[in-house]
Amino acid sequence: MNDLADVDVLIAGGGVAGSAAAAALAQLGLTIQIIEPGPAHGRRLAGELIHPPGVDGLGELGLLDVIREEGVPVDGFAIFRESQRGAPDAEVLPYSDRSDAKVSGLVVEHRFLKERLLEKVGTLPGVSIRTNARVTAMETQNGDTFTAVVREDTGDTRVRAKLLIAADGPLSQVRKLIGMSHATQRYSAMMGLEVNDENLPHTGFGNIFLSPAGVSYAYAIGRGRARVMFEILRDADAKESIRTQLKNFPEDFRRDIEAVLAAGKPLAAPNFCIVPEASTRGNVALIGDARGCCHPLTASGITAAVKDALILRDALRETGMDIPAALKRYARLGNRLQLTRRTLAEELREAFLAQTPEAQLLSECIFSYWRSSPTGRRRSMALLSTLDSSVLSLATQYLTVVLHAIRLIPQWRRQRSIADWNRGVFRLLAKSLGFQRTVIGQWIRERYAFPE
Ligand SMILES: Cc1cc2nc3c(=O)[nH]c(=O)nc-3n(C[C@H](O)[C@H](O)[C@H](O)COP(=O)(O)OP(=O)(O)OC[C@H]3O[C@@H](n4cnc5c(N)ncnc54)[C@H](O)[C@@H]3O)c2cc1C
Repeated sequence: MNDLADVDVLIAGGGVAGSAAAAALAQLGLTIQIIEPGPAHGRRLAGELIHPPGVDGLGELGLLDVIREEGVPVDGFAIFRESQRGAPDAEVLPYSDRSDAKVSGLVVEHRFLKERLLEKVGTLPGVSIRTNARVTAMETQNGDTFTAVVREDTGDTRVRAKLLIAADGPLSQVRKLIGMSHATQRYSAMMGLEVNDENLPHTGFGNIFLSPAGVSYAYAIGRGRARVMFEILRDADAKESIRTQLKNFPEDFRRDIEAVLAAGKPLAAPNFCIVPEASTRGNVALIGDARGCCHPLTASGITAAVKDALILRDALRETGMDIPAALKRYARLGNRLQLTRRTLAEELREAFLAQTPEAQLLSECIFSYWRSSPTGRRRSMALLSTLDSSVLSLATQYLTVVLHAIRLIPQWRRQRSIADWNRGVFRLLAKSLGFQRTVIGQWIRERYAFPE
């Protein structure tokens, strides 16, 4: 084994999170080495929609110009649910109510996004990239300071760094190597394909189609193309599931998709909910999907990764490069964002997919809230896009949504049974109270366990 010259920061993984971290820490004048196994190891089907806070963050890191040309602006979500009246209808959730406001997200094809960002950070002062290399071991004497072992064709090298960043994705090897456990749930997979964007229903929006069979997405990716993704639940038959989900799509667009499906095989990727026991250990910080990921319903993974990078940079700056103090701060601030984003994704997923009376009622309440309140639509989009990452905002909105159950009594009386409404409302209230208790408990713990 060779010993290499020390670096300030070693980053395992050259995906969006690794590149964002490198650009952020290069702004502090640190020497940084990125270890990346190469294109064959990355994911082919992954995040492409970046919310405005992620776009702003990439701008702040000097990484926006290299992807803007490849990108397509996006103004929020258009959310379709199972058609109630024959024709599919959608609630449009814009990032901003003001048409003159320049608040927009960006969609960039994943392969371009990853390539362009990594290429750009490789040109920054102090940053070097070792491709066809991977971290294969993390050595430690005392559990406080880890040293990475990097494997290349030429052999293994031990790299000492003051700070090690695990940006190696949801199934992070580094996380495992430092003995950090995590809870995993793998509930579905995603199948993705490209179609002509001519009949895409809400151009300029991320179209989300809800169905008990799974959540599907469609958005423009540029050059006249659109990405379509279908969620395939565990143990479901993929063809049957796609057929069911397609029923919610407008007819012309559905035909375009069916033609592509008949001609080829879609790309696939697993969907995980991963919650590691912590986000730092010793001199190691987890970032991006390695730090935790959830259902892609909110399309917030990239934005969260960019925010993580900025939080880490600011924590190092504010603590005068005191790494233990900075990592403590990073863990506290970043965990808030993770908690809100994960809770929101998981609650929405359940509301839209589960077939229980409380889930159906919650889903109706959410749509009633969106239909009746432009402020509600904007506030929901702020949570979905991580512009608002306060768990207390989430708790308040949850309660507001649940109160919409009262408005729905006449409709439920007409369309279903009032007994179902009763059952749904009791379970929903119990669930909501449990949710409020968890959120408030978490808030109090954070306030007192990590005082400012
Ligand atoms: C189907 C799907 C759709 C999604 N849609 C969206 C969306 O629209 N918007 C959004 O924001 N998010 C979305 N996400 C989530 C988003 O893709 C991720 O949050 C984001 O890509 C995370 O990037 P990352 O850099 O943390 O991880 P990754 O992109 O997984 O990168 C990890 C990198 O680490 C490298 N690596 C692996 N092992 C090692 C090792 N031992 N040593 C060194 N390097 C290693 C890999 O080669 C890879 O390059 C989606 C996810 C999926 C699966």
